[in-house]
Amino acid sequence: MAIARRVEFVPYRPKTILNKGKRADHWFWARYSAYPYKGCMHGCEFCYCREEKYYPYDDADLAVRDDFAYRIQVKENAPELLRRALGRVPVDLVMTGDYQPAERKFQVSRKMLQVCCELGFPVSVLERSPLVLRDLDLLRQINERTTAVVFFSIIYTPDSAHRATLRKLERLAPPPEKRFAAMEQLAKAGILTGTCMMPILPALCDDDANLQSVVRWTAEHGGSFVIAAGLTLADQQREYFFGVLRQRLPALLERYRDLYPEGSYGPVKGNWRETALRLRELCERYGISDRMPRPTIPGDKRALNKRVVEALANQVYAMELDSAPGQRIWAYRKAAWAIEDTPQDLGLIYRTMGRKGLESIENVGPKMAQVVEDLLSAAPILRQAQEPASSEWWPP
Ligand code: SF4
Repeated sequence: MAIARRVEFVPYRPKTILNKGKRADHWFWARYSAYPYKGCMHGCEFCYCREEKYYPYDDADLAVRDDFAYRIQVKENAPELLRRALGRVPVDLVMTGDYQPAERKFQVSRKMLQVCCELGFPVSVLERSPLVLRDLDLLRQINERTTAVVFFSIIYTPDSAHRATLRKLERLAPPPEKRFAAMEQLAKAGILTGTCMMPILPALCDDDANLQSVVRWTAEHGGSFVIAAGLTLADQQREYFFGVLRQRLPALLERYRDLYPEGSYGPVKGNWRETALRLRELCERYGISDRMPRPTIPGDKRALNKRVVEALANQVYAMELDSAPGQRIWAYRKAAWAIEDTPQDLGLIYRTMGRKGLESIENVGPKMAQVVEDLLSAAPILRQAQEPASSEWWPP
């Protein structure tokens, strides 16, 4: 179990900073990520970063010291590394920023945003702290030049029945009402914002009243979406979390042991689909989405490809919620990847070669070419020569 201790800041000079995905992921739409610190002073007890494969320390006795929350490595050279790395890759969305309390002192996130701004890269920031508002000037500039998205990790609201328990599990993170207030400021500044409800903790966050409250607070504070996923527990992270429950929330221990037996990763009981479908229904009711809209990059020659990928990915998610056959889901997913990887503008391919052109894209094939053609036919952009897509045209 963690003992209270002073936070130690350790200067650190990594050799690389930019993580490059083969393509954008279908949740956050980021192709790149780059972060300024290792470890996190917010110290959320459920944090997946304590899992062995993500854990940034070799020598920590996690259960005793919890270095993750108290020994923060500051990547001093992150801005220079980022500048060099972004100079060599195509422009696409960069997930960056970390506004834990260390940022007040070191301002590495700010310097990294400055680099993205100067080089014209769109950014996406996922936060548990309103400190991100300190850099609203830069975020506005990025948003004027290309795109900025700032969204917040929020799993409950002040109205939630289990807020006192959940507060204990988020330790040093600012309370959710402050994050919602920051969301409102960002929305007023015209920056795409919303909620990342991850992880939905069983027996604490998955009751209907809490789901509804998070969606309502998001909509009322200018958020455009709530995306959600359940809790995963693995190896040392599982042991750490169970240690926290044993000490501070013993009434929950048996329930979680039952849900997450040794060797499991996700919960072995309960129905995630039901929770996700309920969230979908609530989002519709409050006029927001349960998917993050894919940010557009002005002047992007492949804007149409990206819109089509977004629509296919949304259909994949809808099919997963409907328990559609796996083969069908895979066909959509592979077509989305293939179109993401296609260097030519999809509109040009379709205008010059018709359906045959779509079929010729590897992993699309005749059936998916029909699906893509239907999507394209609904796209006014095809009637507007080569203009970049706006976010308005896509059918719901
Ligand atoms: S804010 Fe995020 S990274 Fe930091 S401890 Fe909490 S879950 Fe982990």
